[in-house]
Amino acid sequence: MTPLYGAVEAGGTKFVCLVGSGPDDIRAEARFPTTTPAETLGRTFAFFREQRARHGALAAVGFGSFGPVDLDPGSPSYGRITSTPKPGWADTDIVGAARAALDVPIGFDTDVNAAAMGEWRWGAALGLDTIVYLTVGTGIGGGGLIGGRPMHGLVHPEMGHTWVPHDRAADPFAGCCPFHGDCLEGLASGPAMRARWAMAAEDLPAGHPAWRLEAHYLAYAVANFVCTLSPQRVILGGGVMTSPHVLALVREAVVSLLNGYVQVPAILDRIDDYIVAPGLGARSGVLGGLVLAEQCARA
Ligand code: ZN
Repeated sequence: MTPLYGAVEAGGTKFVCLVGSGPDDIRAEARFPTTTPAETLGRTFAFFREQRARHGALAAVGFGSFGPVDLDPGSPSYGRITSTPKPGWADTDIVGAARAALDVPIGFDTDVNAAAMGEWRWGAALGLDTIVYLTVGTGIGGGGLIGGRPMHGLVHPEMGHTWVPHDRAADPFAGCCPFHGDCLEGLASGPAMRARWAMAAEDLPAGHPAWRLEAHYLAYAVANFVCTLSPQRVILGGGVMTSPHVLALVREAVVSLLNGYVQVPAILDRIDDYIVAPGLGARSGVLGGLVLAEQCARA
C-alpha cells in the first residue's frame, strides 16, 4: 500500500495543506490565510488530525516554508522561521511544533526549494538534477536543486534579494524592499509593480510598458543565475508570472543579455523549453511538501 503523506505550503499570505501521495492521489486539501503562528499552525495540525482519522496514518509531513528559515539540522534553531519581518512570526518553531502535535517525521525546507522538488519529481524538471525555481509574486524567492540536492549551504539562497542594474533615469521608482530598497524583489515583485504603476499586476494590460520593464529586471536575474549556477532549466512561477505575456518577454531578454556567450542549444535554439512555467501550476510548492515528507520518511 502506498504510504500517505501530509504536505504544507506555508506562505506569508496563505497556508495550503494537503494529504496524499502525489498529484494523482490527493485525498484532501485545505487553504487558509496566514494569521498568527498559534492560530495558523493550530488549523494546520487540526486538518492533519482530522484527515488522519478519515484516511489513516500519515508516514510523515513536509513543510515548504516562507523564510528566512534555519535548515541546519545541527543548529539549535533548526526548523524555525528566523528573522522574518512578518509580524509575530520571527523565531517560530515550525518543526518543533509539528513534531509535538503530530508525532511523525517532519520534512522542512524553503517554500521555493519545496516547489523545485515538486517540479523535479512530477513537473517541468523531470529527469534533470540542477534547476532553478524562481517565484515572482508578493515577494521574489528562488531555490532549486544542484546535483539532485536542494540548495542549502550557508543558509539557503535568497535570490530575490540580489541586485540587477537599476537605471533611475528610466525607472525612478526607488524600490520597496524594507531591507535593500531596489534589490530584485524591491523592483520586480507584485507590490513593486503596484507601487510603481498604481495598478495591480493582474490589471496591467498586455501592451503596458510595465511588462517590458518587469521582463527586463527578471531577465537580468535569470541571466545571473544561469551564469552562476548553470541550471539545466529555469522555472518561473508565482502570481506575476501567470500573466501570459511576460514569460516570452523574459526569454527574449535573457537570450539578448547572454548575447551568444553560453553556447548551448538549450539557450540558442530551445529557449522556450529552457525558461518555463511550472508544470504543476500553482501546486508546485505544496506537492513539493509531499516530496519532503517522503524523503524524511525514508531517511
Ligand atoms: Zn531586498
